[in-house]
Amino acid sequence: MKKKILIIIALIMIISTIIRTAIVGFSFFNFSNQLIENQTLLIKEILEETNNKEKFLQIIKNSHHINDIKFIPGQKTENIKIEYNFKTQTIISITPFDDNKVLQITFSGVDYFSKLKNAVLQLIAIAIISLIIIILIVNYYLTPYLEILEKIKQSTEEILKGNFNQKIETKLKGEAKEFVDSYNNFLNKMKNSFGVIEEKYTTLIEKEKSKDPLNDAKETIEQLANIFQFKRLIEDDATSTSILNRLIDIIKGFNINHFALVGIDNSERNALLIYSQGGDICCNILENFESCRAYRLNKEINSLKFKKICEFHICKNEYICLPFSSGGNFTGILKMMMDKEKDQELLQQNLPYIKAYLNEVSAVIEAKYTLEKLHNQTIKDPLTGLFNRRYLENILPTLIAAAQRRSEKMAFLMIDMDYFKKVNDSYGHEAGDIVLKTLSNILKSSIRKSDIAIRYGGEEFLIILQNIKSIDDAVKVAEKIRENVQNTLIDIGKNSIKKTISIGISIFPDHCMKGWECIKYADIALYEAKRTGRNKVVLFNKQLEKETNYNA
Ligand code: GH3
Ligand code: MG
Ligand code: MG
Repeated sequence: MKKKILIIIALIMIISTIIRTAIVGFSFFNFSNQLIENQTLLIKEILEETNNKEKFLQIIKNSHHINDIKFIPGQKTENIKIEYNFKTQTIISITPFDDNKVLQITFSGVDYFSKLKNAVLQLIAIAIISLIIIILIVNYYLTPYLEILEKIKQSTEEILKGNFNQKIETKLKGEAKEFVDSYNNFLNKMKNSFGVIEEKYTTLIEKEKSKDPLNDAKETIEQLANIFQFKRLIEDDATSTSILNRLIDIIKGFNINHFALVGIDNSERNALLIYSQGGDICCNILENFESCRAYRLNKEINSLKFKKICEFHICKNEYICLPFSSGGNFTGILKMMMDKEKDQELLQQNLPYIKAYLNEVSAVIEAKYTLEKLHNQTIKDPLTGLFNRRYLENILPTLIAAAQRRSEKMAFLMIDMDYFKKVNDSYGHEAGDIVLKTLSNILKSSIRKSDIAIRYGGEEFLIILQNIKSIDDAVKVAEKIRENVQNTLIDIGKNSIKKTISIGISIFPDHCMKGWECIKYADIALYEAKRTGRNKVVLFNKQLEKETNYNA
């Protein structure tokens, strides 16, 4: 910077010296021309005044600056011929009289060139001296300002590293001092405010500092704002499923391609795969969650920190398992796998944020999950996990209205186990319970998700098949269930037994228009199945209603 300024000053001086030299040279040239012109004019005037040759020569000889007068042979001419030698002397040739001779007057020459040379040398000397003086002055006055600029440059580099602990000093006064003071104030303010921000956010998100703490702060604050929004969203979410779905979206948003989310019910002691993508889950957590290291220790299991940390991980890729729980009914395990090297970098970078999200989820999901569990307990049968009669009462009017609105058929399958009393009597009540559970599982696995299985009574079950295409379809499903039950060998401890069921079917709106009416007709059909030999499916018809003494 300083160098540049000095070079510019020197260039200006050189250029101005060249210009001045040219001006002086031009003036000298003009001046000498003028001088000779004047002398010529003077001679002309003398010639005009005196016609006498002797007198003329007399006057000329006495005149100043004349060096030599001589006649040389030459042509007569009207003009005065001037030949001048710029360096030494000027010669004027004239033919003032009638004879054939030319008068040559030589003026004592002035050495204009050496005079010009001297003038130029003086100019250059003046230029060099003034250049040195200017450089010294500029150097003296400019250096402290340049020092300030240099210090600001260094301090800016430090600011980018997050260090606001420097102060700039100057000996200058006035505006420069004011500038330095306000810069120092700015640094101080930044130090106080950024220091607090940094301290606070690092307590919220455990993130390693990078080389660019300002960018770190920006990124972290952005993420904190997102996490805050996320927290508000999930607090208003109705179900634990919607919270977990949001969490899945967040994980996907971090470009994690291979991961699995597992939910563990701590009181029921079972694990459920909530979501997985990118391939194998690479461990047996679903079958044996109790041995899951992340679950057991309730802490992060990171194979990047300790190679092969989990003995149950069976793939070659690296992994991080994060448990999230608030110590209640629900524990979530997020297992993230890194199939490529660049996945590792990405995941490590985003890990603090993912943990922060999980932290929010664990606090909110427990309350929702427990509420759902309580609600389930009121609408589900504890032995079989199927819906109970209370649920049926709530849902029935809605189901009928929806089917009516959409003009859909619905089938009601009333199911009763044949000779169930015998199980209790022969093998005990516990064996009876096992048989009921097995039957419930067969029912659940034989119907679609949109269908509803209800434990209607002791060993009576009701299945509602929604949106069936035809009555035949309902009969086929019922037949399939009946066959499945008939073919299942039920393990009841020491013994294994086979049981059969009877099924009565009624169809909405073909047989009935109201929910309870449909159930009643299905029951009439079931009664008919029992009456005519059991282990069979009977479809309701109006004749049956007349024949049966059914007074439900
Ligand atoms: P059927 O072929 O006529 O249906 O003969 P059944 O023996 O099955 O007769 P019924 O349907 O009347 O039998 C109901 C029996 O189911 C009565 C009760 O002992 C038994 N039961 C009801 N609820 C439970 C239960 O939760 N657990 C067990 N173990 N048994 C139950
Ligand atoms: Mg019964
Ligand atoms: Mg029975």
